[in-house]
Order: sequence, then structure tokens, then C-alpha cells
Amino acid sequence: MQYPQLEAFSGGDGLIRVVGHRGARGIMPGNTMEGFAFTLACGVRLLEFDVAMTRDNVPVITHNHSLTRSIVRDQNGHWLREEAKVSDLDWADLAQLDVGGLDGNSAYGQRFPDQAFLYGARIPQLRDLCQLVAAPGFEDVHLMLEIKSDPEKMQDATARSAIARAVVAEVRARGLSERTLMHSFDWNLLAECALIAPEMPTSFLTQLPRNAADIGEDSANRACPDLTAPGVSVPDLVAEAGGALWCPHYLDVTAQDLARARALDLRVAVWTVNEVADIDRMIGLGVDAIVSDYPGLVQRRLLAHGLTWSQPPNASQRDNTLGLRRCYPCACWPADVNPASQKSSSVSSRSLSAEPADRASIRQREVHSDSIDETVKTK
Ligand code: MG
Repeated sequence: MQYPQLEAFSGGDGLIRVVGHRGARGIMPGNTMEGFAFTLACGVRLLEFDVAMTRDNVPVITHNHSLTRSIVRDQNGHWLREEAKVSDLDWADLAQLDVGGLDGNSAYGQRFPDQAFLYGARIPQLRDLCQLVAAPGFEDVHLMLEIKSDPEKMQDATARSAIARAVVAEVRARGLSERTLMHSFDWNLLAECALIAPEMPTSFLTQLPRNAADIGEDSANRACPDLTAPGVSVPDLVAEAGGALWCPHYLDVTAQDLARARALDLRVAVWTVNEVADIDRMIGLGVDAIVSDYPGLVQRRLLAHGLTWSQPPNASQRDNTLGLRRCYPCACWPADVNPASQKSSSVSSRSLSAEPADRASIRQREVHSDSIDETVKTK
């Protein structure tokens, strides 16, 4: 089957794609609408993000299965004391929380010292992001949608089907099937996705056991064949499982693997590549796409090598500032902003509020959204 969305993730002559990992986690809070808007405004139009399911069956964009105290603040701005499981909470519980910053005293927070600290950034629903990128002006945006397997339910076919169906329904409802990849470490889940949504290609994440999980994050919960068995070719396993993309940890990939993937007609996107030397090595290997917490750094390295990640934006794309000042999820222009006046400014300090004083503007945006879309009233 030919998938139109594969082109957006395919490298070529002078071209390696850049995928923003959780938006641009290195400098903006990961898996937030603010981070996604920033990433898009940087001209990085491929977004990777993580989806889990609440107790009341709402797909939400968050990475860990439990709320992590180094990332999440309560309504009073205090770091959480309890790390409740997302699947034990309703959407209304999550909607109160603030995920706009990291606790600098935590090991996780210290991994990203350059990340901005925002007030009022919420855990998005999958619907929020789908609505944003379904709006005019975002037609070139593609989604690398990672579904997280609940480690306690990995053998539960009913739970697997429930999250796959909820996610697929949301993507289809916004007409984004042809711009979305289904992405996971859980190969059973990907098989389920392929069954119920054959129009969306599957993207297989792999990580060899020698590479430990990153501090402060759930480890990759693998439901996959033994990747370390003698004589195993991981790209062959991915191809046999029906994958269109193979997404190995960047330390695992070799030139031999890459050549084999090419022979199997697999695209190869490596994750998560954040250091200059590693990015350069991936460029040298000739992967199709680089997934990074610092997509701007990857852009710069590609340019240094005489490469690019996409076609330069046309005049109209440059003029609309690529969505930074648009209200989400409806992507309309806030009433108090005149688009014509923005052409000389590429970044809105209001939308990227970094101080408590900007809470008022956040509230203003939410009020504005309330009048347009019912879904936002839950925020
Ligand atoms: Mg992910």
C-alpha cells in the first residue's frame, strides 16, 4: 500500500527530515500546545508526541503513565506530592494541572536546563493538537503519534483495542489520517492499529537493552520480538511485522542496518538525537529523519552540511508567522491581534509567556476559546 504521509518522513538528495520530539523539549515544555506551536513556528512541521488514555477514555498527550512530580504542578503551583496514574484519573482531574516547567532540583529537570518555564500550560487532549493542525495553514504538518502502552495492561487485548480505537477516531475526525503515522514500542498495539486503520502506516520504535532508560522517564515498554537473539536483523523484523518506518535508538543503528532497511523499503527515523556529534554522525549515515529535543540544532547542523529538512517556506507561510499567535485549538486570530501588524515580528512574547504576569493573557486566550469550542471549557 502506498501511504501519502511517508513522503514527509522520507529523506532524499540534500534532504534529511527533522522531527520535533515532544515538540522541542530541549527548550519548550514537552508535549504542550505551547511547545508544538513554537516548533511549528520554527519551520519544523513533523511532530512527535505521546498519547495515553484517562480513566474516562480521553486520549491525552503525555509521556509517563504516572504524573511526574518534577514536571507537574497543582492548581496552587506546587510540585505534585503524589504521582497518580493517568489511567486512574479523569480528564477533569488532569485539566487542572500545569505542565509548563521543570523542577530544576530534580534529576529530570537538570537534564534540560534550557527549557523555558511557563505558567498555565496544560496537558493537551489529542483533540487539541488535531484541531490545531487541521486548520488552514498547517496542511504540511505531519504527526508521529506515539501510543503508550500501559505497562500493567500490555497483555490486555481489550485495553489495547480501546486506546487504538480512541486515537484513530480522533485522527479521522479531523481528517488527518493521511498525515499521521502510528508509532509505538508495542508491536502488538501497532498490529491492532494496522487492523483498524490500514490507511495509516505503522512506525516501529526499537531500543536495544544495552541503552538504559533516560532519567525521569518511563522506560520503553517493549512488546516486541527478541532484538538481541543471534542473527536477528531488526529491520527485517520490522518489515515482517508490516512496518513502513523503523525508528531505532540512535546508538543502535549501523550503516549495515540502514542499507538493509533501504533494501526493505523502510524509512529510518532515529531518536532522540540531541548532541552535535551524534547529529553529525546520523547525517553521515544518511538516515531519513532525525528526531530531536532540539530541532533547531538539527536544522543548523543540516545547513552546515549543505542539506535541508524541507523546502524553504513560501512568502505566505513566512507572513503568517506559522501559527504562533493563533489561538488554539481553533487556530483563529484572537480578536485583539491584527495579523497585518505582525509581519515584522516572528515571535509572540504573549503566547510564549514566561512570567506569572502573563497569566492574564493565558486566561484571556482560554476565554476566547471558550466562546468558540466546547471542548476547551474543560480546561
Ligand atoms: Mg515518544
